Amino acid sequence: MPARVHLQPSFSTSNPIPREFSLGGANASPKLSDYYDTLFAAFGPQYWWPGRTPFEIIVGAILTQNTSWSNVELAIQNLRRKKLLTPGAIEAVSFGRLAALIRSSGYFRQKAKKLKAFVRFLRAEYQGSLAKMFRTPTRALRDQLLGVHGIGPETADSILLYAGRHLVFVVDAYTRRILERHQLAGPKHSYEDVRLFFERSLPPDVPLYNEFHALIVQTGKDYCRKRNPRCDQCPLQDFLPERTPPAS
Ligand code: SF4
Repeated sequence: MPARVHLQPSFSTSNPIPREFSLGGANASPKLSDYYDTLFAAFGPQYWWPGRTPFEIIVGAILTQNTSWSNVELAIQNLRRKKLLTPGAIEAVSFGRLAALIRSSGYFRQKAKKLKAFVRFLRAEYQGSLAKMFRTPTRALRDQLLGVHGIGPETADSILLYAGRHLVFVVDAYTRRILERHQLAGPKHSYEDVRLFFERSLPPDVPLYNEFHALIVQTGKDYCRKRNPRCDQCPLQDFLPERTPPAS
């Protein structure tokens, strides 16, 4: 895992954010480097993604949709115990058995279908080889993954960044919530708007993207809750814009 990464100021890079990607508006001055440094100083390295192999990370990225990580861990433990954490094993196991083993992750039939769809895609396009798949250029592979049943932008980007070490920033609900509460983005901004905002603000650095997203998740879980955010104890409290109404 990376040691502390010192970011360059967002707007001093050779690739400044075009106005349309300055999500907070023309006068906004996002300081993502300060956010990162502050969060890293508060939480330290997060050692993401929790997974022993790229395939296990992919399985985790699919299973964690709409559920907590503790529920996913149980499902992954079951799959590991049954030696099913390989693309070939997931392809070969019956749908019913797979669904039963991942029951703890919720929506287990849907998720079993998604896992099956992913390994079918991997077989059809890359002869079952993750190494081959991850040699595909990032944009092309992202488009392919988004075409697989059950893989949306957040899951595709988690797979690309954490399993494949591709340069893609992962946006989740915590990211959006923090940006909106800090007036760096609004509800009208799409997933792609927010992703590009990070990618055009930050140096192109995979370990940095890895660590930053993990730190954002930690902030969201511990402080920036949907209801009753703990701003008074949050490491990011100094970044709240003045006269911001209390986050709700
Ligand atoms: S808890 Fe408050 S200070 Fe912390 S990120 Fe959320 S809105 Fe900002």
